[in-house]
Amino acid sequence: MVMEEKKKLTLVQQTAEMVEWLASFGGSKSGGVTRLLYSESWKLAQEALKARMEEASLHAYYDDAGNLFGRLEGSQKEGRAILTGSHIDTVVNGGKYDGAYGIIAGVLALKYLHEHYGRPKKTIEVVSLCEEEGSRFPMTYWGSGSMTGLRSFDDVYLLKDQEGTTFIEAMEKSGFGKGKYQHPGTAHFDCFIELHIEQGEVLERENKSIGVVSHIVGQRRYNVTVNGESNHAGTTPMKWRKDAMNTASALIQVLMEKSKRMPADLVVTVGQMIVEPNIPNVIPNKVTFSIDIRHSDSDIIQSFCQEAFESFEGLARERGTSLDIHKWMDEQPIKMCENLNELSTTILQTEGTSFKEMTSGAGHDSQVFGQFIPTSLLFVPSHKGISHSPHEFTKTEDLEKGINLLIKILHKLAY
Ligand SMILES: [Zn+2]
Repeated sequence: MVMEEKKKLTLVQQTAEMVEWLASFGGSKSGGVTRLLYSESWKLAQEALKARMEEASLHAYYDDAGNLFGRLEGSQKEGRAILTGSHIDTVVNGGKYDGAYGIIAGVLALKYLHEHYGRPKKTIEVVSLCEEEGSRFPMTYWGSGSMTGLRSFDDVYLLKDQEGTTFIEAMEKSGFGKGKYQHPGTAHFDCFIELHIEQGEVLERENKSIGVVSHIVGQRRYNVTVNGESNHAGTTPMKWRKDAMNTASALIQVLMEKSKRMPADLVVTVGQMIVEPNIPNVIPNKVTFSIDIRHSDSDIIQSFCQEAFESFEGLARERGTSLDIHKWMDEQPIKMCENLNELSTTILQTEGTSFKEMTSGAGHDSQVFGQFIPTSLLFVPSHKGISHSPHEFTKTEDLEKGINLLIKILHKLAY
């Protein structure tokens, strides 16, 4: 498409065009997208985005980890830049919108602002973060983590992908690595604003256009192991059994019943269970199950766990079994910036766009930035909440509403 034709496109048309264009890098026949960190399709997408940024009059540059920035230089010499964007990597056979949308929104918003209002007072940058999903190497948030200092080059040194390629080899093959480019870090940035698809169905069900996120939930994960005794399923009377499965099911029941008496936005999931010896006619001697608990208030998570685990001990003993409870993840909730959220809700109220203040049950790059600089996470609806799938879908009109909001926020902050 030549420049002349592109100029005639409305914002909604530009959005639709850019979604399909970006999805073509790593796109499959099924409509899915696979762009793993430092892969061929990943590199092509970053290079093509760099050209798009330059075409939109932005100064485009990389950092040493492979994060790509597009800078709209402000007239004020002092002060830090406003940052917007999201991640370019995807899961295997993921959708067109997860991560990509935040980058597209940033590029189109900066292009629009430059075309309509010229040079801003404050510098604004859009970032295409190199990695968030952890789909290739066992490490998440490498893009935002390397910028903020939460992750370092030492952390990735020993990592390998499933083919045995080391993180460092893959990174260097793509042209990145320690010292290859500058390392801007978050000290250069004033705040971070991320647009993302909801990846849930709350906005669609409630018919709201925008989700303004107050917190990214905290989460804890445990493995609970119930130890019992294996015996013959036919010849052991019920009263003499030490059945690890019987205990496990009672404990899970406690979790589910207890969750109903907690605030409605507490969620608890038992998603994994390992049964030993896992034979139909043998009483299990060992059952290990996972617990995933999330809420925006760490005190609520704490009291839920404490009360549940207190009743666990008695239930296990009554059934002749014993317990080991192992906590292996404890992430604190991250609060988003109240001032930025107020700015968003004022804009949305003024223009009559429907919105909902909500928590995010999933982590995003905002979870990392939010620990260092004022951060705002804004959602647009996801059809049926489907994500990490070729069926991921958001209407272009909904995408455009988000971009319009971003334009207004950036205009207010930078001009
Ligand atoms: Zn994402």
